[in-house]
Amino acid sequence: MIGLVFGPPGSGKGTQASRVAVRLGIPHIAAGDMLRSEVDHDTALGREAKPIMDAGGLVPDDLVVRMINERLNQTDATKGVLLDGFPRTVPQAIMLDVMLKTRNATVDEVIALEVPDDELKTRILKRATTEGRSDDTAEGLAQRLIVYRQDTAPVLEHYREAGTRIDSINGVGDIDAITEGIMEALKRGGVVVGTA
Ligand code: AMP
Repeated sequence: MIGLVFGPPGSGKGTQASRVAVRLGIPHIAAGDMLRSEVDHDTALGREAKPIMDAGGLVPDDLVVRMINERLNQTDATKGVLLDGFPRTVPQAIMLDVMLKTRNATVDEVIALEVPDDELKTRILKRATTEGRSDDTAEGLAQRLIVYRQDTAPVLEHYREAGTRIDSINGVGDIDAITEGIMEALKRGGVVVGTA
């Protein structure tokens, strides 16, 4: 099962993807977390990514694609993965299709979390006081929202055109209820069977 959790910054992608991945017993691969780890370890990729991330921009496609490709090569990824924050551009989506094709796989399901802008702002500014992410500022968020609309929203169109199953989920409300809503959608789609 290859699933994508898709949505604007602050929509709860990370929270929901980690919970759903545990339920499915597959790894949660979060591009933003991987990049922050590269920054923390002061790697060449981290040094290149940090100023871009702080400004709310997107790290170049080739760098992110290489990072994800290496992660997909790890043995735990063979049973499936839940991707969070990748792909974020149409070229990344096209490159993911190629990477999966070489592994005889395809994206089975896109979970699209929907949260209104006002709520995103409230959440990000609250997260700034608890997690201390250097891109969680009013300016950083404004830029990330612009980038989301311009570069990332078209990714959904890419999957719609490919005929991939897309489930839109209301991302506002009780965290547990949202997780259950995602699990129900996955069951309806036949992506998950049984009581997972
Ligand atoms: P996130 O934790 O998903 O909010 O990502 C934090 C930041 O990491 C983003 O604002 C981008 O600067 C960078 N980033 C994460 N995923 C990608 C990606 N797929 N492509 C390019 N940049 C990314």
